[in-house]
Amino acid sequence: MHKISDIVSTGKLLTSDGAWGTYLFKKGLPSGSCPEEWNLTHYDDVFDIAKSYELAGSDIISTNSFGSNVFKLSQYNLQEKLSEICQTAAEISRKAAGKDKIVMASIGPTGKFLIMDDVTGEDLYSSFKQQAVAFEEGGADAVCIETFYALDEAEQAIRAVKENTSLEVICTFTFDKSESGYKTLMGVSPQQMTESLISYGADIIGANCGSGFLDMIEIVKMIRHVSSSIPLIIQANAGLPVFENGELIYSETPEKIKVIIPKLIEAGANIIGGCCGTTPEHIKVISEIVGKYNQ
Ligand SMILES: [Zn+2]
Repeated sequence: MHKISDIVSTGKLLTSDGAWGTYLFKKGLPSGSCPEEWNLTHYDDVFDIAKSYELAGSDIISTNSFGSNVFKLSQYNLQEKLSEICQTAAEISRKAAGKDKIVMASIGPTGKFLIMDDVTGEDLYSSFKQQAVAFEEGGADAVCIETFYALDEAEQAIRAVKENTSLEVICTFTFDKSESGYKTLMGVSPQQMTESLISYGADIIGANCGSGFLDMIEIVKMIRHVSSSIPLIIQANAGLPVFENGELIYSETPEKIKVIIPKLIEAGANIIGGCCGTTPEHIKVISEIVGKYNQ
C-alpha cells in the first residue's frame, strides 16, 4: 500500500495524471454512451490511456470510473455491473501503474441533490461504498472524490470510503469564479470546503476541473489560509474550452502551463495533475517541473 500523504509529508511533490473523459472521446467513445462500460468492452483502449500517463511521468494514475455510481450507471441499465466495472477500472490502472506507482480511483458526483430530497444520505452512502469496496478489490491505493460541489454529498462519500476500506481518501471540489469570489455550484467557498472536508476525515484535499491552472493559484492560497499542513492536490482543466471548427479547443497549452506550475507549487500545492483537456504532453511538462523541485 502506497500512502500519498506519507510521501508528501517528506516534502516530496507528486505528479498525477490528466484528462480521461476528453481522451476517451478522442479514442472514439460515442457521445451518449457510458464511458465506464469501456472497462469491460474496450479494455485495451482504457489501458492505453492509463499507460500513456504512466509513460508521461505520472506518479499517480487515475481510473476510468468517474460516473460509476448506481445512479449514473442505471441510466444505461448497467447498475448490476457496478462492482465489475469498478474493480476492472482499478485493475486496468494497476496494470499500467505497476507495483511502484499509485492508483487513485475516481469517484464523481452522483448528480443527485440531498437538499432537493432526490435521494437519502443512505442511498448515496451505499452507492459510494459499493464503488470503494470494488476499487480496493481491484488493487487501488486511494480514491479521489472529485468534481464535487456539495458538502453533504462529499461527507457521505468520504465516510463510505473510510468506514468500509483502508483506501486513502482524496476529495476535490470544482470552483467557478463569480462576482462573490470562487464558489461551487452549491455556493461553497474554498475556505468552507477546507474546514468541512478536514472535519469529515479526508486525507488530502484540493480543487479540480474549473477554469484552468492560472485561477488555481488563488484557490491554493485560499485553502492554505485555512490549513497550512493538509496535503493539497490540484487537477486543473487546460483553461476554459472554446468551440473552433466544431472542435473543443483548450487555451492552456503544455507550453503555457510551464510558467504557471512553479507558482502553484510556491503557493502550496503538493500534488499536481490535470483535468478536462489536459494530455500526456501537459503531464510531461508538470512531471519535469516537479522533478526539478524534488532534486
Ligand atoms: Zn474537468
